[in-house]
Amino acid sequence: MHEYGDCSFCGREVKEEVAALDYCYKGNLYVFREVPVGVC
Ligand SMILES: [Zn+2]
Repeated sequence: MHEYGDCSFCGREVKEEVAALDYCYKGNLYVFREVPVGVC
């Protein structure tokens, strides 16, 4: 788990959640599952 600190935009606490990301690169689609992201 990372420490995100407070959000630099709204100043609220940032928590880590996992999300799925679709990423298209050079015509290939990559799907990343359970990517940690900070959400506030
Ligand atoms: Zn925020």
